[in-house]
Amino acid sequence: LTSAEQDVLDEIESEDVDFLRLQFTDILGVVKNVAVPARQAEKAFTEGIYFDGSSIEGFVRIQESDMRLVPDPDTFAILPWRQDEDGVSARMICDVYDTSTGEPFEGDPRRVLKNAIERAESMGFEANFAPEPEFFLFTEDEDGRATTETADHGGYFDLAPKDLASDVRRDIIYGLEAMGFEIEASHHEVARGQYEINFEYDDALSTADNVATFRTVVRAIAAQHDLHATFMPKPIPRINGSGMHTHMSLMTEDGENAFYDEDDEFSLSETAHSYLAGILEHAPAITAVANPTVNSYKRLVPGYEAPVYVAWSDRNRSALVRKPAARVPAASRIELRSPDPSCNPYLAFATMLHAGLDGIEKGLECADPIRENIYEFDEAKRDEYGIDTLPTNLGEAVDALEEDEVIYEALGEHVAPKFVEAKTQEFGEYLVEVSEWELDQYLETF
Ligand code: GLN
Ligand code: MG
Ligand code: MG
Ligand code: MG
Repeated sequence: LTSAEQDVLDEIESEDVDFLRLQFTDILGVVKNVAVPARQAEKAFTEGIYFDGSSIEGFVRIQESDMRLVPDPDTFAILPWRQDEDGVSARMICDVYDTSTGEPFEGDPRRVLKNAIERAESMGFEANFAPEPEFFLFTEDEDGRATTETADHGGYFDLAPKDLASDVRRDIIYGLEAMGFEIEASHHEVARGQYEINFEYDDALSTADNVATFRTVVRAIAAQHDLHATFMPKPIPRINGSGMHTHMSLMTEDGENAFYDEDDEFSLSETAHSYLAGILEHAPAITAVANPTVNSYKRLVPGYEAPVYVAWSDRNRSALVRKPAARVPAASRIELRSPDPSCNPYLAFATMLHAGLDGIEKGLECADPIRENIYEFDEAKRDEYGIDTLPTNLGEAVDALEEDEVIYEALGEHVAPKFVEAKTQEFGEYLVEVSEWELDQYLETF
């Protein structure tokens, strides 16, 4: 056993942990668990835990279904909402191995991100990511089903007493902190019942793990208060949806911020400009992965602080990429504003990282920033500035993904076709539906 693994065994002993949840995610970003008695932890480290992968979305074909989970000891955490008289549960996030080859399973989203990180390392960089996940808290009906009624009526940064859900938010933050999160800020968002919690940046893999954990913790603790937390991007039409702005920077091998250049007008290095250009170049294809649901595209419309146009800015928030003001060199970074919290963070970060690295490798140059409100541009003005539009629905986004070799390949041979297949099916199912809106518009008119 490594010392990190031994530490986990010691903690299981001292904290009297009864159950271990071995956690991983499927291609759609849904967290899956295999629960084992805590005394199996040592075996999990040395041999792994076998499970049948054929029932996991997009993992494997039936005839090759045996998979092995190997827990990452750095991700050990006691689940604060499962620590009571009934016992103590903890979790670890796992890597998935293919039992027939003994190699890491290429269909594991965590593996897909590790491949991107290895590419960055081979270029001399370590990537830092920081997300800003937003979500809604809704009440439940008598049967415990989620409604779209909010528990409060506060607005952006509103404080109590209007912010009735602040107790829940406090418990969520305690829960996150108990699981090792460093919370930077938490506030009420623009929409009623909408919140944002920011946690500290970390390397790309830890941050993706954190997003997966974050969603689990927020939902579990909201449920203890009989509220439903949703990361669905646009649960209510005509008000702000929920995004997951993602900040990115690269560090050099000696720990310097490779995005910082004090002589540049925007304090961005050439590396940062090329990375940004790569993100803009591949933005339509990234959208399929960072905005992977039919509903994601109800958020990406003008007027609700969500991006629609492929441009960057150092000032306004209507752009796809923003360069936030950085007070210290270490904080020089770019913010991609399109991702939403329904994405698989491993796959989304992998596509973003590959896009940026592609920009660096090709030495792409970045257009000038747009400082006006792009929502107010007409088509002629957008053409004049060379500003493209993001895909307007999931079908277009999947087409863009299939046409973009860099991003398609970023997902890997296993995940890319499975992802396209799953999303094509999802969009196809949506297309044959008849919505409430259509009935209201047409039923009595025609
Ligand atoms: N909710 C907005 C979105 O959809 C973002 C609002 C904000 O953080 N300023 O991206
Ligand atoms: Mg924010
Ligand atoms: Mg926000
Ligand atoms: Mg932001």
